[in-house]
Amino acid sequence: MLEKRNFYINGSWVAPKKPSDIEVINPASEKACAVISLGSKDDVNEAVLSAKEAFKTWGYSTREYRIALLETFYTLYKKRWNDITDAIIQEMGAPKDFASKLQTGTGASHTKSFIRYLKEFEFEKPLGEHAKNQRLIYEPKGVCALITPWNWPMNQVTLKVIPALASGCTMILKPSELAPLSAMILAELIDEAKFPKGVFNLVNGDGTTTGDALTSHPDINMISFTGSTRAGALISQNAAKDFKRVSLELGGKGANIIFKDADPKAIERGALRCFRNSGQSCNAPTRMLVEKSMYDEAIERLKKYTNEFKVDDPKKEGEHIGPVISETQFNKIQTLIQKGIDEGAKLVAGGPGKPDGMNEGYYVKPTVFADVNNQMEIARTEIFGPVLSVIPFETEEEAIEIANDTDYGLTNYIQTKDSEKIRRLARKLRSGMVDVNGAGIAVDAPFGGFKHSGIGREAGKEGLLEFLEVKSVGGWS
Ligand code: NAD
Repeated sequence: MLEKRNFYINGSWVAPKKPSDIEVINPASEKACAVISLGSKDDVNEAVLSAKEAFKTWGYSTREYRIALLETFYTLYKKRWNDITDAIIQEMGAPKDFASKLQTGTGASHTKSFIRYLKEFEFEKPLGEHAKNQRLIYEPKGVCALITPWNWPMNQVTLKVIPALASGCTMILKPSELAPLSAMILAELIDEAKFPKGVFNLVNGDGTTTGDALTSHPDINMISFTGSTRAGALISQNAAKDFKRVSLELGGKGANIIFKDADPKAIERGALRCFRNSGQSCNAPTRMLVEKSMYDEAIERLKKYTNEFKVDDPKKEGEHIGPVISETQFNKIQTLIQKGIDEGAKLVAGGPGKPDGMNEGYYVKPTVFADVNNQMEIARTEIFGPVLSVIPFETEEEAIEIANDTDYGLTNYIQTKDSEKIRRLARKLRSGMVDVNGAGIAVDAPFGGFKHSGIGREAGKEGLLEFLEVKSVGGWS
């Protein structure tokens, strides 16, 4: 078992002030794969002090210096690719190929993309041709608390740490206590790349003690959080007391609107996007809205596809899904599947219990419910498991109404060959992202949500701007 009790503070790995061990459970074996520490208020105070001190110089460092360090980091990241992938497989159960290509892969793509934006970004510019003595200066927000979840561990961490470094902020990262191992490798890479001490700090811990100590600390200037809507609301309350800047990436309940003229593969593609990562993606299209005239055919296809969908050991190569993160999550999903049955949705494939022969590990059967009504709990709650709810619709207006009738607004999906329809729908759907015909959202496109799905945007130029304050100077000469 890996011993990972230390925190990375002020350029060194240091022991926690008070021992407080917690095991990291491998969800495929249900056994501990590592032991980490839960940080106390004192550990957080030390990390914040170190970041505050480091900001005095790093906040005024040159773009060229930051680019050089980030490029070194990127080179080192690629060298440790397999270690990062192995850590992700162990800590959250993503299958090998998926963990390597997508989980580790997105960390690399975000790093590369932020380096490009850092090279291009205008940190100082005139307000405009009409007002040349008016200057805009973009400055780092300061000391940041970065809090991340377990479902896309390296993706989430790089979406925060890299733009924070690029902008000149200093930071304390608190990765999910359920999946901290890949983030600890990232800390090793930052150390190896020789970022100045105190610029990046990592304190492990839970939400109620460590997370709360960080988000209520008066010397934190900005909080960037990804996780549940519940925790996002608590963090916002802490932040409000002293006007901390807040960026929140929260949950989703995406609708995938499939019209009769869609590419026939849209049905299977939609199910795959829902089941991938064992359904543990905030942008998963978990409500499939199907035009009535093709509804019966769609249900038959979904039944066949889902019954053949593979669930297997994450250590194996190939196209399958692994377990869900924890026993708590497994039980929550089981309760919601039962709720769907009790509320009268029609179980088409999957259902309660573990897949045949898979007794060890938190494996869930990919599940499809037909005849779902948008008011049922399975259509309203973010299940965060491989569970698809299929809802019929008759008109375009009805589809838009159902899609928008949710507290969330992260990603919606449209499947049709009709360009006019695509444009009408893309404009009317109340979500931060709209993915049409499986095109995907670019790695550097703004990522974030409307409504309860969050505040602010990550990735690309907008992701860099989240860590910058703009200052107006009049009388510049
Ligand atoms: P979670 O909110 O339980 O935990 C996320 C992180 O916040 C963890 O590091 C946790 O320790 C910390 N935390 C929890 N309570 C806290 C508190 N009161 N104060 C400070 N920190 C606290 O979420 P999770 O279960 O780890 O992740 C799943 C959720 O994340 C889902 O709702 C999912 O939709 C969301 N998510 C959103 C995006 C996005 O970009 N919109 C991406 C990935 C995941």
